[in-house]
Amino acid sequence: MKLPHLKKILPEIKTGVSLKKYNTFRIGGKAKYFFEAKTEKDLLKVLTAVRDLKLPLFILGGGSNVLFNDEEFDGVVIKVSTKGLEVKDYKPGEKIVYVEAGTPLSFLVNKAKELSLSGLEWATGIPGTIGGAVFGNAAAFGFSIGEIVKTVEVFDLETLKKRKFNQKECCFEYKESIFKKEKKYVILRVGLVLRQGNKKEIEKRIKEYLEKRKKSQPFCWSAGCVFKNIKIEKPEIKLKIKKALPEAAKFLKSGFLPAGYLIDKCGLKGKKIGKAEVSQKHANFIVNKGGAKAKDIIKLIRLVKESVRKKLGIELEREVVFVEDFTIDSKFLISDNEIREAEYKNKKNQNMPKKKSSRRKSAKRKKTRKTAKKKTTKKKTSRKKASKKRKKK
Ligand SMILES: Cc1cc2nc3c(=O)[nH]c(=O)nc-3n(C[C@H](O)[C@H](O)[C@H](O)COP(=O)(O)OP(=O)(O)OC[C@H]3O[C@@H](n4cnc5c(N)ncnc54)[C@H](O)[C@@H]3O)c2cc1C
Repeated sequence: MKLPHLKKILPEIKTGVSLKKYNTFRIGGKAKYFFEAKTEKDLLKVLTAVRDLKLPLFILGGGSNVLFNDEEFDGVVIKVSTKGLEVKDYKPGEKIVYVEAGTPLSFLVNKAKELSLSGLEWATGIPGTIGGAVFGNAAAFGFSIGEIVKTVEVFDLETLKKRKFNQKECCFEYKESIFKKEKKYVILRVGLVLRQGNKKEIEKRIKEYLEKRKKSQPFCWSAGCVFKNIKIEKPEIKLKIKKALPEAAKFLKSGFLPAGYLIDKCGLKGKKIGKAEVSQKHANFIVNKGGAKAKDIIKLIRLVKESVRKKLGIELEREVVFVEDFTIDSKFLISDNEIREAEYKNKKNQNMPKKKSSRRKSAKRKKTRKTAKKKTTKKKTSRKKASKKRKKK
């Protein structure tokens, strides 16, 4: 029943699309529904339909930090393919670049170079989109995207209205953001502050960073670093590290202990399960040697985590996204229709006068949304518990 309805509203929606070519692991089953949103209007249309039909939803950027399952994804994968950028004056010597979420980061780095704008050189070689980069606060060589973000415009999936976040409101931390924490926003547009610089110097820095990447990273199908590096600001963690790895003292100054170093210390480079392998070149990369299954990668991730915990007493935290971690269950999103229906029922029950001031109306709407939300809280809590169990994988 859902498909004909979806096809009617969204004739461009595809069914049974293999997800393999949409992620850098080159792994995954089919998506029951797949929609490529090239404009903001497209996005709003598909999001409204998904919410009304209560379908599970996954927002996909460049697929360079995600692991899909081998089985079918029983919902809608929306690939954000909105592209474009606009440069505006900001402070003297600085510009703001407004970038559409689906714009590839590599395109942006190159465009910034062409415009002699500095501040993104470190991001060269990171695949994916600017939306994905902001979601996970992409970082490299001591820099992170959050540091140069001025604004982020999103669709709030609960209201399907646009909302703008300033840098502080994005709550950027190491590989974290409000968008990752709250799981209810689709990033539409990002404003980045870049400095006017010297084109030749920018070019030189880009080359240097690329060289560093080439030397340290494998050129195979992967999703980049599987685990986050370990923050070593807490004294108890420092102590643990000093005890387990006295020679790791060199990292204490930088504030981070590379996860790859720990995995290497456990002798796991080259460890294989099926066609998945802990890279020989960079121990924090798990690579698909050709035909690897999601279950191989998951098993290998579990093995690495357990080994590091047992041998070094350090708990690694996964950076790569499992599709189920960020699948949005639209059952918990309340559509305007539902609110209107609930309002109507309330009115009927309470025998309220028909006309109300708009302020009272909106207060009432808020209350109804709250009540409707409460009803789903129980389900949500049990879902969270199940998700926590999965995360322990
Ligand atoms: C060879 C290689 C090197 C890498 N090097 C680095 C590195 O140096 N530093 C680093 O930080 N990462 C690195 N990565 C990982 C990855 O490229 C980044 O995390 C990238 O920013 C992910 O962007 P994406 O568009 O591919 O996101 P995806 O993989 O498509 O999605 C990742 C998450 O973001 C969410 N998302 C994506 N777009 C949106 C949107 N518009 N709105 C809301 N949510 C969205 C998805 O739902 C998902 O949960 C590397 C990966 C590879 C393969």
